[in-house]
Amino acid sequence: MPVVKRNPIPVSDAVKKIMEHTSLWGTEEVPLTEADDRILADDLSATHDVPPFNRSPYDGFAILSKDTAEASETHPAKLHVLETIGAGQVAVNQVKSGAAIRIMTGAQIPNGADAVIMLELVKEMDEHGESYIEIKRNVKSNDNISFQGEDTKKGTLLAETGNRITPGLIAVLATFGYHTVNVFKKPIVGILSTGTELLDIKEPLQPGKIRNSNAYMVAAQVRAMGAKVNMYQHREDDFESLYENVKECLKESDLLITTGGVSVGDYDFLPAIYEKLGAHVLFNKVAMRPGSVTTVAVHEGKWLFGLSGNPSACFVGCELFVRPVVQSGMKVRKPHCKAVKAVLGADFPKANPFTRFVRAVLTEGVEGNVVTPAGLDKSGSVSSLLAANAFIVLPGGTRGWEKESEVGVLTWNGEGSEWPWDSPLFFKSQATRTAEKQQS
Ligand code: AMP
Ligand code: MG
Repeated sequence: MPVVKRNPIPVSDAVKKIMEHTSLWGTEEVPLTEADDRILADDLSATHDVPPFNRSPYDGFAILSKDTAEASETHPAKLHVLETIGAGQVAVNQVKSGAAIRIMTGAQIPNGADAVIMLELVKEMDEHGESYIEIKRNVKSNDNISFQGEDTKKGTLLAETGNRITPGLIAVLATFGYHTVNVFKKPIVGILSTGTELLDIKEPLQPGKIRNSNAYMVAAQVRAMGAKVNMYQHREDDFESLYENVKECLKESDLLITTGGVSVGDYDFLPAIYEKLGAHVLFNKVAMRPGSVTTVAVHEGKWLFGLSGNPSACFVGCELFVRPVVQSGMKVRKPHCKAVKAVLGADFPKANPFTRFVRAVLTEGVEGNVVTPAGLDKSGSVSSLLAANAFIVLPGGTRGWEKESEVGVLTWNGEGSEWPWDSPLFFKSQATRTAEKQQS
């Protein structure tokens, strides 16, 4: 097959092209008990006040504050205790002048009472089988009352479409009786690894063969993004059978990720498979390292991601291009890797015409962030992925990078960022930045 010349496009253009094609995944109702980490598909509001009634925040006595107006060390106010109510109980008596009701945390304030005095601040007494308390201080009206609606007023917006369901949100939803919740469906991501050299992870090593690590890595990545995985048996580099495999897998997937075989080598059949499928290729070369051959196509409403077989290239391609498709389809407001600034902790002498994504360790500190390359920076290296919690983004330029340079960094754990990453750090070469600095 002749080698077809491909035109590299900038990373930012590649992401832009992808964002033009995203669509929603649909919604489903799930029990609150199964809603962890799902993405809300509705705006939800408070259906009543919280607390729903005035209640006591302490164990104490519900009283009429004016009964303590004259109270002092020497002239304590003496009140008759009518009854005791625990949380969940409602008083049968009214609190009238001269009376008190013993009340526990969370119980509804009895009618007539306008304050609560804490248990520790009264002296309890028993006289002829009747209970009394003595109060030696002045209690003000409304003291120690949690008022209806002081936490949340009925109608308050609790959470919005696109919010991830956290334990905190689950607490709030349970408070308002949302026992089921409308969430976005998880898109189904098919994962098909290609390469005649691949072994299943259960197989012993054989000459010339390696285990398929990419499929497992990508599966973990897309699950963390909120997708559901269909993992397929890896396949050999054979055009005809691979074409059939891709066609079949695509039927069952919203997105089909293939790994390997997307380059221009003798056994790289994915480009020809896209062509035979009649898929609309958004791009097949990106000005980045690793992963310049990453190819993304759409076909009959489905997505095809042709990721490079190099583990690091595969990882980067997945985070850069698959993440926003998965998450935009669930209206996640920050569907891209999180962009932060950091200072380089070591020289990075390698020059590069393309934007480079360097596996790195990011340390966030009060003095600022420091980022250091994580070991071997070869695209085939798996071990450097182990330590890495970030990518340093070094925009293309002819020179290497010096320690202490300010650089853009992408992370993939936790909340993401909006697009575009609003810092020139991600797009301007060091040469351009230096020139601009000298001019100003
Ligand atoms: P390819 O993209 O097919 O040219 O593969 C590039 C490199 O990645 C080769 O060294 C492959 O052996 C390696 N590779 C391909 N697929 C996988 C995989 N699923 N797991 C680990 N390494 C792979
Ligand atoms: Mg290959």
